[in-house]
Amino acid sequence: MFTQRTYCGEVNDSQAGARVQLGGWVDKMRDLGGIIFIELRDVSGIVQVVVDSSKNPDVASVADSVRNEFCLRVEGTVRRRSAETVNPALKTGTLEVEADIIEVLNPSLTPPFPLDTRNSINEELRLQYRYLDLRREEMRETILARHRATQVIRSFLTDNRFIEIETPILNKSTPEGARDFLVPSRINRGMFYALPQSPQLFKQILMVSGFDRYFQVVKCFRDEDLRNDRQPEFTQVDMELSFVTRETVIQIIEGLVAAIVKETIGQAVELPFPRMSYDEAMARYGKDAPDTRFGLELADCGDILKNSSFNVFSAALASGGIIKCLPVQDEGSISRKMIDDYTEYVKTFRAKGLPYFRYRDGAFEGGISKFISETERAELSAKLGLKGSVLVFFASDRENVVNDTLANLRLKIGRDLNLIDENRFNFLWVLDFPLLEYDDEERRYYAKHHMFTTPKAEHIGLIDSLTPETVNEVKAQAYDIVLNGVEIGGGSIRIHNTDVQKKMFGVLGISEEEAKIKFSFLLEALKYGAPPHGGIALGLDRIIMLLLRRSSIRDVIPFPKTQKGQCMMSDAPSPVSPAQLRELSIKVVDK
Ligand code: ASP
Repeated sequence: MFTQRTYCGEVNDSQAGARVQLGGWVDKMRDLGGIIFIELRDVSGIVQVVVDSSKNPDVASVADSVRNEFCLRVEGTVRRRSAETVNPALKTGTLEVEADIIEVLNPSLTPPFPLDTRNSINEELRLQYRYLDLRREEMRETILARHRATQVIRSFLTDNRFIEIETPILNKSTPEGARDFLVPSRINRGMFYALPQSPQLFKQILMVSGFDRYFQVVKCFRDEDLRNDRQPEFTQVDMELSFVTRETVIQIIEGLVAAIVKETIGQAVELPFPRMSYDEAMARYGKDAPDTRFGLELADCGDILKNSSFNVFSAALASGGIIKCLPVQDEGSISRKMIDDYTEYVKTFRAKGLPYFRYRDGAFEGGISKFISETERAELSAKLGLKGSVLVFFASDRENVVNDTLANLRLKIGRDLNLIDENRFNFLWVLDFPLLEYDDEERRYYAKHHMFTTPKAEHIGLIDSLTPETVNEVKAQAYDIVLNGVEIGGGSIRIHNTDVQKKMFGVLGISEEEAKIKFSFLLEALKYGAPPHGGIALGLDRIIMLLLRRSSIRDVIPFPKTQKGQCMMSDAPSPVSPAQLRELSIKVVDK
């Protein structure tokens, strides 16, 4: 039917006068009294097809019968449009195809939503009819950008001697981070596989095998409660390298990220990316993935307010907490009503209130100003560099509550006051994460990155005398890469020494028995000349979302799940037949 197909969006000036064959969908159809215009669309874009009923009555009657989204084959001659009919909105807008054959390959029902709009369409409807949604220009552009990104990832890494290796999808369940998705084994009754949360163990094994640079563009699965930027299955660009230090990993990733940005959106990024220690990020921004596109930095005022007459402050310090503040140079633009809203907002982060005062040209007004002594006023003014009109918000509580509260308030105020330059891409390395964190409620340590991450050599000794108070002093050779306040990747140099690995299991409360059951193959492998190694994984979905400035990760995944983990198009997950369950020896019981 097609002997040589031309893509609609690629019809070009050099083809003027030539015959072309097009295949695509009707984007728009207009009949202007005998002259019929069809905008025909395929994956490459749109070209205008014209039929003149006085010249081609038969073709015109077919053209007249088509409706939006009919699938057509068109043959005709390319011609230049006259100056007044040029359409600058189309790449092919100076040309059109005068059709002498139009064949309806398949009619279409009327789509449940318009495909030619960028306006918001009900998302459930879009997901239910994803095949139509993907015909929309915005979605087509996204999928193509994603394709370009994965292609450049493959070529860049191949050029840097990485080898693409697949690792299994059906794995042993070793729940440590998030919850595993489980798959029952029919032939091993009562046994389950787990879908990989990451190919972590296998990529380390590949290092032992001597494939010294591995990568994979790989689906990973985490059975978590879904938030706006999470999906139960997501794509990682997973890498592992032998004989490297953190510096080599960072350099390679910077080159890779620059190539992805160039290929996906045609922009150059400035290298190297800025770096910040975890401690500095927490101190200045209250979170380990700070958005550095705007100021509004936090400051610790525990020292200045240690004898405060404001009871909430003294109580927080007395129970081992901290006091931090967020000075906002708003020049009076934050209203009383906004302060009330912020006070309500911070409750989400377990803050019990939002003390504040306003500094105005040397005077302290409102809020808790009456509790602030002359000395404290002088010290706060100096430390915070107060001048003009500044609203100063406080949080005093346990350290994590304080940081969480002020980090989120900072972002909210940054958005409210339009302080964030949405056109910028601020990349940042966050380095020197703590190796462990202590969970007060469960009274145990957790690995901050994961349990195969190596401590800094000079901190290994500290592990033996670790207490919840000193936990932050043991730093790991772990690093995160952040873009505009979103973590887009993270990794670490690994433990390749069995004794250090045992020490790590020890502090995590994983018995030798348990370690053997879960990871014996990795522990064994480490004994056979494992090279020093490290790696990283980048979240491809998030990177594409940020680069294309999409507001949801679902917009960059061809077939995403809803926040309830459902596929609106295929209706997964769904019940299975009793026979299937019987075969698996599974019985569904009421909760
Ligand atoms: N496997 C880790 C993750 O998924 C990344 C890494 O350490 O390479 O976060």
